[in-house]
Amino acid sequence: MTRFISNPLHSLRGRYLLATLSLAFLMLISAWLTEIYVNSASHSGHHNLSQRNHILPINRAIRYAVHDAVNALNAYVLSPNESMRQVFKTRIGDSIQASQELSIQNWHYISEQAEDIKLLIADLGSLREHGIALMQLRDNTESLFPAMTLLRDVLTPNNVSFNTAASLAHDDLASELFNPIDDPIYQKISAARQHWANMIITFRGYVALLTGTFGPDNPDILQQEKNIELLYVQVMDVLHELQALDRNELGFQTIESLMQMHTAAQTWYQAYKHVREIYGTSKWRADAPYMHQKIFPIQNSIQQRLVRLDIAIELSNKEDLGVLSKVSSSVLNTFWFVIIFTLSSIIIGYYFLSRNILSPLSRITTALRSESLKDTENPLPQFNTIETRQLISAFLDMRDQVQTRQEALEYQALHDSLTGLPNRVLLQDRLQQTIARGIRDNSTCALMIMDLDRFKEINDTLGHHFGDAILQQVGLRLTNALREEDTIARLGGDEFAILLPNTDAAHAQLVAEKIIQELEAPFTVDSHKLYARASLGIAVFPEHGDNSNSLIQHADVAMYISKAANKHYSFYNTQQDQHSLDRLTRINNFRHALQYDRLELHYQPKFSVHTGKLIGAEALLRWPHPAQTPASAMETISLAEQTGLIRPLTLWVIDAALQQYALWDKGGTPFSLSINLSPSSLQDQSLEKHIKAILDKYQVYPGNLRLEITENALMTDPERARIILTALATLGINISLDDFGTGYSSLAYLKQLPLSELKIDKSFVIEMHTDEGKASIVRSAIDLAHNLGMNVVAEGVESQATLDTLERLGCDIAQGFHLGRPIPADQFQELINCHAA
Ligand code: C2E
Ligand code: CA
Ligand code: CA
Repeated sequence: MTRFISNPLHSLRGRYLLATLSLAFLMLISAWLTEIYVNSASHSGHHNLSQRNHILPINRAIRYAVHDAVNALNAYVLSPNESMRQVFKTRIGDSIQASQELSIQNWHYISEQAEDIKLLIADLGSLREHGIALMQLRDNTESLFPAMTLLRDVLTPNNVSFNTAASLAHDDLASELFNPIDDPIYQKISAARQHWANMIITFRGYVALLTGTFGPDNPDILQQEKNIELLYVQVMDVLHELQALDRNELGFQTIESLMQMHTAAQTWYQAYKHVREIYGTSKWRADAPYMHQKIFPIQNSIQQRLVRLDIAIELSNKEDLGVLSKVSSSVLNTFWFVIIFTLSSIIIGYYFLSRNILSPLSRITTALRSESLKDTENPLPQFNTIETRQLISAFLDMRDQVQTRQEALEYQALHDSLTGLPNRVLLQDRLQQTIARGIRDNSTCALMIMDLDRFKEINDTLGHHFGDAILQQVGLRLTNALREEDTIARLGGDEFAILLPNTDAAHAQLVAEKIIQELEAPFTVDSHKLYARASLGIAVFPEHGDNSNSLIQHADVAMYISKAANKHYSFYNTQQDQHSLDRLTRINNFRHALQYDRLELHYQPKFSVHTGKLIGAEALLRWPHPAQTPASAMETISLAEQTGLIRPLTLWVIDAALQQYALWDKGGTPFSLSINLSPSSLQDQSLEKHIKAILDKYQVYPGNLRLEITENALMTDPERARIILTALATLGINISLDDFGTGYSSLAYLKQLPLSELKIDKSFVIEMHTDEGKASIVRSAIDLAHNLGMNVVAEGVESQATLDTLERLGCDIAQGFHLGRPIPADQFQELINCHAA
């Protein structure tokens, strides 16, 4: 696993963490920067706004004050009055005060305008000065109207002079002429006087127009000027005509007057032209030019400065708006950036998820599926993330383990754990294959079954350890002696099978002899030298069977024949007596039934005759046989006796019965368990030891166990039987004498045995009603038993009448079909339950 912790970026978790952290970092940074930016922008915007709110009214106040002051000035010029003068002074003062307030502002938009503000204050100051000067000008008429002097000093006196001279001329003529009116000179002078008068009237109108409300560009004024010139020319024309006349026709006085008139007219006209000039330049009235030249420019300049100020303030507004829009756009940009970044991260994340997890998973899944189908087309892909590599590595580990385990299991299922040789299943399989091949290519094969003759003895006397060691060595020797293609299998216990492919009977015989020879040498276990003889049975395909089962069975039979005939090996012989073959087959089947636990026990209840209570159960052997009619217990026992299997059978019965006895829920009704011992069991020295071990194993109290021995069993070797029974009784086990009445044991001998119960054989009990002889035997058996201090059991109680008679005779215990047949253990539990209730 250490090979995976090299680089954290090679792990999905690491990558995920990195991506998440960078994303979070980026978002925080953008949020932080945005906040700073927005804060500073809004702060400066707020500052600017408050400044603007402060400055704008000042600006407006200056504007209004200037406006009011100039209005007041105008009004004063039109008609001077004291209140307007005051308004002017106050308002101009206001404006100056306001502008001074401006100059002390600390706002950079204003500070940048400091020069302009200074100039504004100066402008306002000069506006005040000039305003006051203008008002003074207005107060003084002479200074107000510059043409007035000419009018007064030149025009008016010359007018008077002209008129006076004209009057003098007229008077002079009138004094000389009778009818002056008709006199052409008189008339000419009158005409001159008339034109003059018209000219003066026109001039007066002209002046009125100029000083009046009409401006100097009035078209009437030009007309007046033309008229004045025209009239002057007419006056001068008349005067020239007159002067051109003979001096004699004119009097002295008239000549004098004409000269005077001429001079006066010329002087007047010169003055008029001057006046016209003045009026032409609009200087005729001093306040207007003053207004135009001084006041208005200052006012304009003030206005411009104020406008500039406004613009500056407006600029701040604009800049604020610009900043705000920049802020909002950059916030928006940030927002979009974050959204786009997040979306791309999601997409990239999905890409990585798919690349690093989903696709690896699906590829691993495909690979695993192929793997499970043993398809090598989709090998396990290579990935670069730790997790996927871990997954694959875990998978590979698991696959290897599963493979190893599977192989081990397969091996275990097909091999014998002790010797490592193939077991029955594998043998069957190979045999079937060999037969199939034999059928295909017409080849033969041989099957041998081998059994070690003295193996049980070794096992029993020296222990399993020795037995096992010998089995292993036998396996080894067989393997060494045979070909590679031969199969050596251990079928169980001391039984081996040898499959020889491509082998006929002759060759099989050679192999058998070789095997026998191999096994002749002693086996050494823990420095003990032991000999194990073997019996072999051989069946050849297709001669002795055309399928695996019949070959195995026939090889088995042949092996028994070897054993029975005390030969090393024998071939299966179809010609052999069918009966003996059946018997051998039966023996063989029994061996298997015992070996593979296919035997059963049934239990027959024993009742107290007096109380009717359940007091015991007798275990009876049953061999259910699916194919054949079930063998009777007697038959099975004799089969076991003949084949030397009685001993393991007896132990199996004791073990199975005690195990069952321990399992039963006895519900407070203690009853004993009776087990039958075969005659040969009584020859077994180790019986006591085994029984004790089994009692301990199932924690059964020895007093609850009863062993039934037949009279005949005792008779085989009475002394040995006595010793064994005494040993058993010493353990606390009860002993019954079974089938009493069928044997010939002497009373003296029986007395020596530790018997506590006597069972009258069922042949007497069943027929005690019809056969008086048997009835008397039952009666005397009861008496005898009681005399010897034993309980009496009557077996074979098939009717109530028998039971009644037995009760009358004082029999203690009854057993028989009438009371209860032997039944399987679970049914017996129900019987216990009924009795307990
Ligand atoms: P046994 O020990 O005398 O067992 C009693 C036999 O009588 C049983 O026959 C039983 O089914 C049968 N029986 C019981 N009540 C009646 C009845 O009312 N009428 C008749 N006609 N028969 C009755 P089973 O089970 O066939 O056993 C036969 C014999 O086989 C036994 O005789 C016993 O000697 C032997 N046996 C049975 N099981 C074992 C065993 O586990 N070990 C040994 N060594 N021998 C056994
Ligand atoms: Ca019995
Ligand atoms: Ca019996």
